[in-house]
Amino acid sequence: MNYDVIVVGAGVAGSAASYYLAKAGHKVLLLDKCEFPREKVCGDSITPRGVRVLEDMEVVPKLEGRFKETKGVKIYSSKGGCSITDFPAYKDYPRRGFVVPRIKFDKILKEHAEEAGACFSGNSLVTDVLIDSGKVVGVKYTRNGKELEETAKFVVCANGMGSNIAKKVLNVTKNDFRAIGIAIRAYYENVNDIDDYMEIYGEDVILPGVGWIFPQEKGIANVGVGIYLNDLKEKDYNIIGIFNAFVNSSVYASKKLKGAKRLGPIVGKKLHMGGVKRAICDGMVLVGDAAGLVNPLTGEGMMYALESGKYAAEAIGSALSVNDFSEKSLIGYQKNIDTLFNRYFILGALIVRFAKNPWIINSSINLIKRSKKLGELNLRQWISIN
Ligand SMILES: Cc1cc2nc3c(=O)[nH]c(=O)nc-3n(C[C@H](O)[C@H](O)[C@H](O)COP(=O)(O)OP(=O)(O)OC[C@H]3O[C@@H](n4cnc5c(N)ncnc54)[C@H](O)[C@@H]3O)c2cc1C
Repeated sequence: MNYDVIVVGAGVAGSAASYYLAKAGHKVLLLDKCEFPREKVCGDSITPRGVRVLEDMEVVPKLEGRFKETKGVKIYSSKGGCSITDFPAYKDYPRRGFVVPRIKFDKILKEHAEEAGACFSGNSLVTDVLIDSGKVVGVKYTRNGKELEETAKFVVCANGMGSNIAKKVLNVTKNDFRAIGIAIRAYYENVNDIDDYMEIYGEDVILPGVGWIFPQEKGIANVGVGIYLNDLKEKDYNIIGIFNAFVNSSVYASKKLKGAKRLGPIVGKKLHMGGVKRAICDGMVLVGDAAGLVNPLTGEGMMYALESGKYAAEAIGSALSVNDFSEKSLIGYQKNIDTLFNRYFILGALIVRFAKNPWIINSSINLIKRSKKLGELNLRQWISIN
């Protein structure tokens, strides 16, 4: 074997896994089909649970003072107005988030993994896995028109939503996810009245979708909408129509976006949410979006991507120390993601059913506005720190 671990995909999950593995002294090859910096469609918002991993990785000093720090969440509904809740003090979670454009964030994380000792190869499109006696033992990839192969004791599958190798090895299909959504975003400058809060909108004109305005520095914001795919299809909506309604005819968001100028195109991507049942097999583990680790309520995935990268590295580290490369050696990883994430996914999917109803969302915001405790309870579910 040439490497201890090959990590496929240098997004948030892959770079986190590579960092922890390399830091523990393992020989890591990190492959990505792109060279960095590269764009990744996202809302760019990292909440306290994700920041906790970034602190552990010692990445935070690379973000502080350069990118917007957030201190809580504002939730708007057309008739309920705005509820404001600061990130609650809870156990060892930091009380801050960050909004970092992914074009910059992913490069910082990838370089952080390299500094820890991971070997990165960009422009390397993984096309298949190598299998020996039922165990994943490496990958096939193309680089500069050349077909290459590399072997390792473990492969970490971190190549995002719709991963080709998760499908091939673990038979992951769209039916495996609790929910499938689609979200689009664009950057705007000169956005009015934004501060240090993430802003989430359940305004009547976009329901059953949800909107957001996530502030960055200097009046720039990441603006987007998301909706479940079955709602989009059933009601024959069009996602660009929802985005336009959000920007132009919502009660609150349209005021903030009046006179703001869009920077660049509106881009989007599907989201596979709620986790897969099985994220491990002999010689391979799925992390981040490849395992569907996205919250069905919020569409947030970065905190789970970071954390799953860390847990995968820990499980692989233990397996390497006893020379056991089987699925059994990775059971601790599966247990971690099941016990630590699933309850948020289950409850999140349930809340969405009700939150699509204008009466419920308007009444809930009215209630939350009046009770700090209720606001914090709600926010803790949103940011997965119950
Ligand atoms: C519109 C939108 C808004 C969102 N907003 C937020 C938000 O505000 N906060 C939040 O926490 N989450 C948000 N998410 C979810 C978040 O973007 C993902 O959960 C997160 O990026 C998952 O990270 P990952 O590392 O698993 O996958 P990715 O970030 O997708 O990284 C996968 C990497 O694999 C590489 N790759 C893919 N295929 C191959 C291949 N065959 N060979 C080699 N490399 C390959 C890609 O180039 C990429 O670098 C949003 C998603 C969308 C679509």
